[in-house]
Amino acid sequence: MSNFRHYVGELIKGNSFFGPKLIYRYSIISFAAIHILLGVLQCLSGQVILGLVTAIVGCFYITIILPLVEKENYLLTLIVCLTEVIVLEFITTLLLGWDAGFYAYLFCAISASFYFTYITQNKHRHVMPLALSIMILLVYYIGYIVMKYLPPAYIYSGKAAAWITVFHVVNIAITFAVMVVFSYLFVWEIKSKNLALTAQNEQLDELANKDPLTHLYNRRIMNKIMDQRMELLKKTGKRFTMIIGDIDDFKHVNDTYGHDAGDLVLTSVAATILNSVRSEDSVCRWGGEEILILVNDPLETAALAAERIRSRIEAMAVAFDNQEIHVTMTFGIAESIPGYKLEHLIQQADDKLYYGKKHGKNQVVVKLEETPPQE
Ligand code: GH3
Ligand code: MG
Ligand code: MG
Repeated sequence: MSNFRHYVGELIKGNSFFGPKLIYRYSIISFAAIHILLGVLQCLSGQVILGLVTAIVGCFYITIILPLVEKENYLLTLIVCLTEVIVLEFITTLLLGWDAGFYAYLFCAISASFYFTYITQNKHRHVMPLALSIMILLVYYIGYIVMKYLPPAYIYSGKAAAWITVFHVVNIAITFAVMVVFSYLFVWEIKSKNLALTAQNEQLDELANKDPLTHLYNRRIMNKIMDQRMELLKKTGKRFTMIIGDIDDFKHVNDTYGHDAGDLVLTSVAATILNSVRSEDSVCRWGGEEILILVNDPLETAALAAERIRSRIEAMAVAFDNQEIHVTMTFGIAESIPGYKLEHLIQQADDKLYYGKKHGKNQVVVKLEETPPQE
């Protein structure tokens, strides 16, 4: 679990999903193992000195290069590894010949240089891997041309000639495996970065568009949504209905139970409203304890929705300090009509809300004249 947190932390910092240290550490251990395996094969083939040198280089990966990784000296690690691969590959090719296939490791070095500079966010990451790749290409051509005219220093004869095939097959298989692993890791890095970006965008969205207490839309984004709906109304005639609700006697809740209790009531009211509307409807904290809802329905259907919300809030019990707090809410509703201005619509919904407050609260006012007169 703590490992998972560490990986997510790295991602949020914009680093590699696994963290460069982990990737470098396991890569170095794998490179050491590959060298030791090749060293053993070379010894078995009769090339004892070359085999021992290769195996010792493998041990150097653990004793000298791994501590560089632990000190987070990634650039030096990369340079040492790439130099080692190029030099040892070149010498081995001179000794055993082109057909032994040691040149294939140059291609691994290309993938590795791109991948490793990417995960460490090295400032030369756009230029360095390309420069290294060109250098590797030159080494490849030099090796190819030299071996075209020069016989290998060690020529296997008789049955031992099969070793060239063994080396070729093993070298190509290792190169293939290393390149596949680096390609997968690269894809994984990019996917993980995208996931982190999506999560960050959601956070930014939340900060820019949502009210921090209730997590409802804030007034700024709601104004934008309403403008869009007005545009749609103008273009297609698609109507919508605005509901403005205000918690009744909220000041009394604050005065009686305290501001924290008031906050909790407000959050619970917001959650109840959000749970009572569809995903295409928009709910916003319009003012202190005033909530504005836009629904994609005509007035009659919206009135039923508002009534459902009203009764759910009336039935709601908010537990605070071993007490239960009950509140009610009054709503005013206005339907958009082509040609109406947005301010006019808000004014209408507000007037009805005000009327409901004046005439007993805890009600949904759809039409002013239908509301029972104040006693
Ligand atoms: P009415 O039924 O007429 O709406 O009465 P009311 O007491 O609800 O209305 P009023 O506008 O007088 O008071 C609203 C109160 O809401 C005043 C303000 O302190 C409180 N309020 C506004 N925002 C918040 C908030 O975020 N948290 C808390 N706890 N209280 C808030
Ligand atoms: Mg109020
Ligand atoms: Mg109010």
